[in-house]
Amino acid sequence: MTHIAVLGSLNMDLVTYVARAPQRGETVTGREFRTVPGGKGSNQAIAAARAGATVSMIGAVGNDAFGQRLRDTLEHSGVDTDSLRTVEGPSGTAHIVVDDEGGNAIVVIPGANGTVDHLSPGDEGVIASADALLLQLEIPQAAVVAGAEAARRHGVRTILTPSPAQSLPPELLAATDLLVPNEYEAVVLTDRADPRDAAAALLDLVPEVVVTLGAAGCLYLSRGAEPLVVPAPQVTAVDSTGAGDTFAGALAVALGEEKPVREALSWAAAAAAISVQRAGTSAAMPYRPEIEAQYS
Ligand code: ADP
Repeated sequence: MTHIAVLGSLNMDLVTYVARAPQRGETVTGREFRTVPGGKGSNQAIAAARAGATVSMIGAVGNDAFGQRLRDTLEHSGVDTDSLRTVEGPSGTAHIVVDDEGGNAIVVIPGANGTVDHLSPGDEGVIASADALLLQLEIPQAAVVAGAEAARRHGVRTILTPSPAQSLPPELLAATDLLVPNEYEAVVLTDRADPRDAAAALLDLVPEVVVTLGAAGCLYLSRGAEPLVVPAPQVTAVDSTGAGDTFAGALAVALGEEKPVREALSWAAAAAAISVQRAGTSAAMPYRPEIEAQYS
């Protein structure tokens, strides 16, 4: 079985639904409140586990009730949490206000994620034993760099989702094999408005790039090969949150299984297309038999 290591964040999303978000100083009555386990690290780990890999999650939760639920959620999808630490203090939280027009305002408090600023003893061994390391940018950059460099030392493929969008230090780019930005992130990283131009510019920095383009699919570029445009299955989307994480998790699994790139991208697109047809983030992520059914 393919083994994927994920180094990244876990957040409890605290989601408030309200007709209209309050102005400063104003109090309004909302309609509904939900707690939803999330964080890009956790989401990608769940996507990869459901897609059929053995997955190890490296990160931290707080010693609060949210931390236990975040851990339980990963374990429920079969993710190994032996490298997930519980630290003193609160878990990461994302405070999300969703209004009736679908607009949202979000405050993220890193909590325990902020303590992940280095690799802990044992982490390098877990990374070394994996076929790929999935990385995002919701934990301190120092740990992302350390993880990528550890993977590089052991010949493990590194796949980086550069979200939230921010400039990337040269040492991180040097240790990244595959960069998977969405369109917005590709533009922020390169200052190029066109995704093709952005992808080409990113190829100067890393050997392989996939720019995800929402319902339009994705664009893959690698040094020394023709660009590939892989369409997304046409589906009716009801909730596209987490589509990118579903895509990245499934792509890591497919590449770990040594599927050819075009096939791996189509397989990841099949997984993401299933997830956008369902409400929720990690709850919407498909299990392997569903991906196989959509793909074939
Ligand atoms: P993110 O969720 O990071 O913003 P995208 O919106 O680009 O990323 O979506 C990631 C992938 O999910 C796309 O490349 C595509 O395969 C799939 N996807 C997203 N939206 C849709 C949609 N409406 N229909 C089908 N597939 C979609």
